[in-house]
Amino acid sequence: MAAKKKSAKLLHCPTCGMLVRFNDEDFPFCSDRCRKIDLGKWAMGVYKISSPILDPEVLEDLGALGGSHGGDYEN
Ligand SMILES: [Zn+2]
Repeated sequence: MAAKKKSAKLLHCPTCGMLVRFNDEDFPFCSDRCRKIDLGKWAMGVYKISSPILDPEVLEDLGALGGSHGGDYEN
């Protein structure tokens, strides 16, 4: 039997899981929309990681922890 003539590579869209062809315009995404959604996820992920530090209550906790430690450290 001849080798497979399947030259078109397929990949699952990271956003919706749809099959995307390797030569697709928006590869590896199935569409420009999915690409933007994925970028949005990244932006949200980064924001979620950094936002708790901006929370006054967390800063207070960190300050309390640093206070007991920072005493002899700053000397
Ligand atoms: Zn998609």
